[in-house]
Amino acid sequence: MSRSCGFQGSPTVLIIASGNAGKLREFTALLADLELEVRPQPAGLEVEETGTSFAANARLKAEAVARATGHWALADDSGLSVDALGGAPGIHSARYAASDGARIERMLRELDAAGGPDRPVHRHARFTAALAVADPSGTTVLEVEGICPGEILQAPRGEGGFGYDPIFWVPEVGQTFAEMDPALKRRLGHRGKALAALLPQLRPLLG
Ligand code: IMP
Repeated sequence: MSRSCGFQGSPTVLIIASGNAGKLREFTALLADLELEVRPQPAGLEVEETGTSFAANARLKAEAVARATGHWALADDSGLSVDALGGAPGIHSARYAASDGARIERMLRELDAAGGPDRPVHRHARFTAALAVADPSGTTVLEVEGICPGEILQAPRGEGGFGYDPIFWVPEVGQTFAEMDPALKRRLGHRGKALAALLPQLRPLLG
């Protein structure tokens, strides 16, 4: 495969500013056709997510990782916002509980508590992914957002994916993210949609 080259004739490096293995897997597949050297962020590099929006946190992560590595960096801040929980956990999706299993359990418990025997709770939700790309000096140069609407099931379904995937059901295909073929999740999911919006702008920048 031919690769776009930096000044020394080596491929342009793009660091994925995330320590989340599920996100890394998805980005590696989503970026597979690009003529880049895609690398995970250095081990031990933690960026505090102090922003008040997905976009602000994505910028913080992209800029910190670009500054720390001296390379282009792509960050994703994402999460699940549930209508009946007032948009929670939203930007706090990763911090909602200590493990994927505990996060799912807490969400199902809180949704049950939000309804009642005569008051079925609306289970509408949406995943959001904000992407930011920072140049090697640590300045954000591109930002996009992708959204995937869906419903929260009453019990997990499916073995694939990560995070909240087993309880996030996408009506248009009648499957949870965890039941989907990974290629279908890449096409319908928030991260894939955001990246599709980003790619036409990213190619000329890094090419
Ligand atoms: P952050 O962007 O690192 O703050 O973490 C976002 C959190 O949202 C992840 O740890 C997951 O719990 C959840 N999340 C984001 N994207 C997905 C997804 O595609 N599937 C399932 N859970 C996700």
